Amino acid sequence: MAKFSFGETMHLDDSLNTYLDAHFDTVVEDLRQWLHIPSISTLPEHLGDVAEAARWAVRRLTDIGFPEAAVVETSGHPLVLAKWVVDPSQPTLLIYGHYDVQPVDPLDQWLSPPFEATIRDGYIYGRGASDDKGQIVLVLAALEAWAKVAGGPPINITLLLEGEEEAGGEAVARFVSDHLNLLAADTVLICDTHMVSAQQPSLIVGLRGILCAELTIRGAKSDLHSGGYGGIAPNPLHALCLLLARLKGEDGRINIAPLAARIPQAEPAERRFWQEDPLDITKKLLEEMGVGEMVGENEYPPLERVGIRPTLEVHGICGGFTGAGSKTVIPAEATAKISMRLSAGLDPEEVYSWLEEAARAALPRGYRLTVRNLHGGKGISISADQAAIKAAGEAVAAIFATRPVLMREGGSIPIAAQLHELLQVPVVLLGFGLPDDAVHAPNERFSLDQLKKGMKTIALYLGLLRQR
Ligand SMILES: [Zn+2]
Repeated sequence: MAKFSFGETMHLDDSLNTYLDAHFDTVVEDLRQWLHIPSISTLPEHLGDVAEAARWAVRRLTDIGFPEAAVVETSGHPLVLAKWVVDPSQPTLLIYGHYDVQPVDPLDQWLSPPFEATIRDGYIYGRGASDDKGQIVLVLAALEAWAKVAGGPPINITLLLEGEEEAGGEAVARFVSDHLNLLAADTVLICDTHMVSAQQPSLIVGLRGILCAELTIRGAKSDLHSGGYGGIAPNPLHALCLLLARLKGEDGRINIAPLAARIPQAEPAERRFWQEDPLDITKKLLEEMGVGEMVGENEYPPLERVGIRPTLEVHGICGGFTGAGSKTVIPAEATAKISMRLSAGLDPEEVYSWLEEAARAALPRGYRLTVRNLHGGKGISISADQAAIKAAGEAVAAIFATRPVLMREGGSIPIAAQLHELLQVPVVLLGFGLPDDAVHAPNERFSLDQLKKGMKTIALYLGLLRQR
């Protein structure tokens, strides 16, 4: 790995700072344009929009001055790959982001149309504003400033954008394993996370992995009338509820025996941070949820539960009759979609086998169960003791005028773990979202102030990575 230099004055070069301030309106306009393309990766009717969002990125990268920028077709949604080699003796930064977005339902809860980006009270509202188009746009703004002020970025850049992060990310996973030489880098930068608050910046040093599965229970060979068969017929919906309650009880404990032994222990300092919660994050979490008390494993601090503990959540149950009025049907089949968030170090494939075994053991008598592994991804735990992470901390401290705290994020970015594992280089998770950005929810937004500070932080960071 190339060495990074330190000890320079930690402030953004005046000409870069002036350029970024002077062109901020253009950056916002760029983001507005990109947000107008409804690139919802999970809905087939938006296939063309996802491709258009990829082409938009290539046009933008070409405008900035990238000598190589292209759409890469895959068996799924396309990728965008761009390269700018300025000096082979300088380190290479691989930047990852995603240009696809989540669906927008419930549409009636949006205060402005999700694909007509609207600016209100210092925020830009629209699906993808924070996750992740806004965060890519700020990286592009930093690169453009370097291009205009210095003729190019201070280090070599490889940029990889994917169009199905919100839908499993299979194409990018395959592309990464097949093209390791093309993606070789000294550091990976991912801007797709959030900070503690606008006042307290943070760097992410851990992400949980994920496992998504589907459980289907079958009873009789067809739906039955509850008058003729109620009392003797198997009811898969009821059996499914019993099974789910056995997998995770009221105490929040997940009853998958091998899991408990494999949950990593955190450092004492981090444990103390969770217990003392000096930033009052627990209170903010309660406010964000709009509830009076938390549920789950009450013997663990809430920050530990959202940061490192495994979870098991039910996302949807399907079966029987759910229309208006009543219909006294005993359904023949019931299905639940579930997911588990996994502590770093746990292999989703292995956890899936434990889950399947535990689900079979928890199945009430008289039913048949099918378990399907929908998709999974590993978590990541990052040592903050690496030059590339420290430099990111310096850049954040300089622009936000506050030293960042190191946090774990409960969410999952499987590509982060994959790039770390395959390239064997530091992965820097430096995101500028805020907890109340409403990602994946109605009225998603991104703070214009975070957008501005974000592009300046990245511009400074790129300079810090340059080897003198
Ligand atoms: Zn994202």
